[in-house]
Amino acid sequence: MTDDTSGLTLVSWNGTRYRFDPGALCLEFLTTGGPGPVGRRYEALHLPGDLAGWLALSRLRLDPDRLEIDPEELSTARRLRDALWRLVCARTGGGPPTDDPADFAATPADLATLNQVAAGAPLAPELTAGGSRQWSLPARGGQALATIARDAIDLFTGPHAGRIRECGAHNCYLVFVDTSRPGQRRWCSMERCGNRHKVRSLRARRAAD
Ligand SMILES: [Zn+2]
Repeated sequence: MTDDTSGLTLVSWNGTRYRFDPGALCLEFLTTGGPGPVGRRYEALHLPGDLAGWLALSRLRLDPDRLEIDPEELSTARRLRDALWRLVCARTGGGPPTDDPADFAATPADLATLNQVAAGAPLAPELTAGGSRQWSLPARGGQALATIARDAIDLFTGPHAGRIRECGAHNCYLVFVDTSRPGQRRWCSMERCGNRHKVRSLRARRAAD
């Protein structure tokens, strides 16, 4: 699992921007779309440049101009992401409502996809003079995908494997891993679902008074 403190800026349906740190690179990747008609509605990876742009915003923070991504790597990216969605839903027991439950049901093919992508050469880490880590560039899109797949295997087999959760808010299907010591994280983001919940319970308390 990558340990950088990081996160993504997402935009909700009403245009509000909020920070979402799912705690792991492989879970960040789930925000680019997903399987079936439900996932396709949120598809963000249409062109190789979309994947490069996303890798720049992700916790990998790669320079998109130094990434080489071909259409085959783009389709592998979507295949890996959809397999990850199903493997994650098998762990959370959740997933978005869908007309066809098979869209989010894991199969042995998903494991095969994950393992096949993980078997590729990953990004190479580099130590900077300042003592921090960066990723060696230029790199191929396939290397970034191998890094994401390996991150997922680390997550699924690591100390926080039992803490992969779907956001506790109704109608929110963002998935995070709770790496906090108390292990009581409930929301994708306090700015979004945490506050919505606070406002709602305050209103309910006032109504009861
Ligand atoms: Zn949420």
